Amino acid sequence: MTRIVVADPSLIVLVGAAGSGKSTFAARHFAPAEILSSDAYRALIAGDATDQRATKPAFGRLHRELARRLAAGLLSVVDATNIEPAARRALVTRAAGASLPATAVILDLPPSLVLARNAARPSRVVADEIVRRHLERLRVTIDARATPLDGEGFAQVVVLRDPAEVDAVTMVRERG
Ligand code: GDP
Ligand code: MG
Repeated sequence: MTRIVVADPSLIVLVGAAGSGKSTFAARHFAPAEILSSDAYRALIAGDATDQRATKPAFGRLHRELARRLAAGLLSVVDATNIEPAARRALVTRAAGASLPATAVILDLPPSLVLARNAARPSRVVADEIVRRHLERLRVTIDARATPLDGEGFAQVVVLRDPAEVDAVTMVRERG
């Protein structure tokens, strides 16, 4: 069992390639209202979760809602790839603005598994080359430091490296 202890309220930032299981993980451990998903905002704005033209307004909405929730003292989870350092930085800045800690949960699963899951997904298969690019960039971002994401401002960084580890997670909230 892997216990992840998060402060409540705080920010949880999921990090992982398309197909790595971020949305599944979020749904398993958090209430729907706590989850801010870039795909859901794209779908809301463009009627299509995959419409990349909606990315900018989708993240605008996501950030606005995140700032509102954190200011109100509500635990919030960001379900987006968050593979680019700038994307993570912007989220950590929001948490800091509300004087709340941020936890990163990285789904660093074997590429073959992520690609297979993406291909087998009932809806919304992301192009293979995009998933491969996510996986490559994620590798670079994790391996860049001895401690992944060190210096990015996260209060804790959890790396889950295989499906058994993901399955074994228990999320514990500590009232802050
Ligand atoms: P996301 O793109 O990172 O949000 O990934 P999803 O959560 O949508 O998962 C991608 C696919 O993998 C979906 O078809 C899920 O049902 C499947 N999946 C995700 N997590 C698990 C898991 O822990 N076990 C199994 N067997 N399948 C999973
Ligand atoms: Mg998803």
